[in-house]
Amino acid sequence: MWCIDRNGRREFPGGKEDWPGAARTAVCCAAFYPDVEEEQIADEAVSCYNCRYRRWTAASFTCSA
Ligand code: SF4
Repeated sequence: MWCIDRNGRREFPGGKEDWPGAARTAVCCAAFYPDVEEEQIADEAVSCYNCRYRRWTAASFTCSA
């Protein structure tokens, strides 16, 4: 379940270190697209943390897809 931030964007509720959650979310997402290698931080290849559409926030990230 995503949180909606004050600007109406979907923010990932698991923060920046929910590695299993970010991977599970990305596996179920048809929009996943890998970011450039130097921007990838998760060991799992398919993870929101490695996706071109995530935009880091202070506490987590939003999805711009
Ligand atoms: S960041 Fe957005 S587009 Fe990318 S995998 Fe996660 S939910 Fe899908």
